[in-house]
Amino acid sequence: MSDEIYDFTIIGAGPTGLFGAFYAGLRSLKTKVIEALPEPGGQLAVLYPEKMIYDVPGHPHVMARDLVKLLMEQNERFDPDYVYNESVETLTRDESGDEPVWVLGTPRGEHRTRALLISAGIGAFAPNKLDRPGVAKYEGNGVYYFVQDRRPFRHKRVLIVGGGDTAVDWCLNLRDWADEITLIHRREQFRAHESSLTELRLAEIPMLTHWELAEVSGNSVVERARIVQNQTDETRDLDVDIVLLSLGFKASLGPMLDWGLELADQRHIRVDGFMETNLPGVFAAGDIAAVEGSEPLSLIVTGFGQAAIAANAAVKHISPESKLFPGHSSDLRL
Ligand SMILES: Cc1cc2nc3c(=O)[nH]c(=O)nc-3n(C[C@H](O)[C@H](O)[C@H](O)COP(=O)(O)OP(=O)(O)OC[C@H]3O[C@@H](n4cnc5c(N)ncnc54)[C@H](O)[C@@H]3O)c2cc1C
Repeated sequence: MSDEIYDFTIIGAGPTGLFGAFYAGLRSLKTKVIEALPEPGGQLAVLYPEKMIYDVPGHPHVMARDLVKLLMEQNERFDPDYVYNESVETLTRDESGDEPVWVLGTPRGEHRTRALLISAGIGAFAPNKLDRPGVAKYEGNGVYYFVQDRRPFRHKRVLIVGGGDTAVDWCLNLRDWADEITLIHRREQFRAHESSLTELRLAEIPMLTHWELAEVSGNSVVERARIVQNQTDETRDLDVDIVLLSLGFKASLGPMLDWGLELADQRHIRVDGFMETNLPGVFAAGDIAAVEGSEPLSLIVTGFGQAAIAANAAVKHISPESKLFPGHSSDLRL
């Protein structure tokens, strides 16, 4: 923490924020990235680090974790400052000094900046938790809400709970890695894509509908899960090593709703074609942004393009005589 004024401060180190930092560096802006989590990557790092992504230009396929690594490597050229484990909670304007600045408040202090990019994705997100005996006791040690590392699942008997894409995708992703997988879902209908469900049926992974998790038990590690049929109350004990609860996420813009930003809805900040919000010098990009006259397209590639626009528009905000167009990076001697 310091009183130093940065040119460009980025809230959120997901793919949008990371690429925004690169472009800001290319435009010689002194840049800082503030991230609430202990690591960069946003949804890629937290929700699906080991999944393959197929729609990033120039990468026929790239694992989410590797894309984050590559973005960080690309940023080394301009070396922005990263601040982790700090959630930005307030945004105020300080006009008392020689130049007006934005002040970002976190539980640890303040960060001052001439312009900023809000690339906070779906906001601070947390998994929907399940309150059943044994679940809290083994959380992080046999009971997981997301897969950050596939290694603990190797040769294990895994019970996956949920009916959405994430639950089904993990069944498919872990099928050749774990020894046994069982999927339970409390309803008849799955929310997952039909093509994934077909793949799941072909893989002959047991899918039990109308079954719910009742209890997790064991000694120092998980040894079994009790499940209950919610129409008949029949119970079964399954010998398992891991329970993966894939019950969706709650996300909220939380404190950002009180920053005076014009919102498109409770999850999106309204921006113009330059990705600027109604507050001067405050830009938004990626999953959190809704461009006037359009509809959010929550994809990595959208965030990349929007972050580049926002960083270049921030240059013009800070120095109105500057050009929006940065020149071609291939012309630069870096
Ligand atoms: C399972 C799954 C699979 C997907 N697959 C694909 C795919 O194949 N292709 C594709 O293009 N897209 C895919 N997506 C969507 C893609 O991940 C998102 O579009 C992308 O992550 C958006 O990036 P972002 O940087 O805008 O936001 P995020 O990735 O959400 O990052 C935002 C960051 O901001 C941080 N943050 C939030 N609030 C604060 C705060 N107040 N202070 C500090 N930090 C804060 C968060 O902790 C987070 O790290 C997938 C999404 C999911 C869930």
